[in-house]
Amino acid sequence: MSTEKSWGIVLRVVDFSETSKVVTLFTRDHGKITGLAKGAYRRNGPFESALDLLSIVQVTYIHKSGNALDLLTEAKLERRFRSASRSLTRLNCAFYLIEILGRFTEDADPNPALFDLAVNTLQTLDGDRDDPQLTLAQFEMQMLAMLGHAPMLSQCVSCGKEAGQAQRKFFGTLSGGLLCSTCRVGKKSVITLSPAAWSLLDELAAEEALRGERLAESTGAYRSGHEPTVGFPEVWSVLNLFISHLLGQPPRLQANLSRSEN
Ligand SMILES: [Zn+2]
Repeated sequence: MSTEKSWGIVLRVVDFSETSKVVTLFTRDHGKITGLAKGAYRRNGPFESALDLLSIVQVTYIHKSGNALDLLTEAKLERRFRSASRSLTRLNCAFYLIEILGRFTEDADPNPALFDLAVNTLQTLDGDRDDPQLTLAQFEMQMLAMLGHAPMLSQCVSCGKEAGQAQRKFFGTLSGGLLCSTCRVGKKSVITLSPAAWSLLDELAAEEALRGERLAESTGAYRSGHEPTVGFPEVWSVLNLFISHLLGQPPRLQANLSRSEN
């Protein structure tokens, strides 16, 4: 048993009893943790209604050994997700983010860079200057890179041939990236992408992570008054399929996200 303290993002909240909740957080210093919050519903209690989904909190907890649930002893709210009542798309994007964050990360396996990326992305999604789905797509690409799942974009995954300037490029979701016109033959789950979609995918994967609103500006999504970014629908489909393949099934909330909502 040891007392730990860390920043955390609330990923999941399940009622445990009339007064308690079981809460899963992705913490900056200790990775994903799940703990029992006794008296979580009590006003003026140690949690002060900080344990809502999407909240960024400073959490104190007692780590139990073995399979026992950790015991949360305190949570201080740093930031609440405010766009919940303003935009269903933003809320759905944020919920989707915490779903995949929870599913791609393991208990007690910290990744501070990924934590910071998630916090920054939630903050961007909670504003109004970005294209939320573009912001989410960028998070997905950056997260995949941080976890060693980045798709290969510059050369064929199968034979190593450089991508070149082909008009149409092929993304193999099972192969994990670019397939040249020779290697794509006979492969399953291959998506043909336009040059615009491919360069957007490249941009989203760029190591120098652009914040959502800057990305929206550079791709014209914001400048042109929220017209869809060229190539985005293709990128969105590829990412959905690729993420689903890596997880073994589509994320539960994937269906909630469509381009038509506001
Ligand atoms: Zn090839």
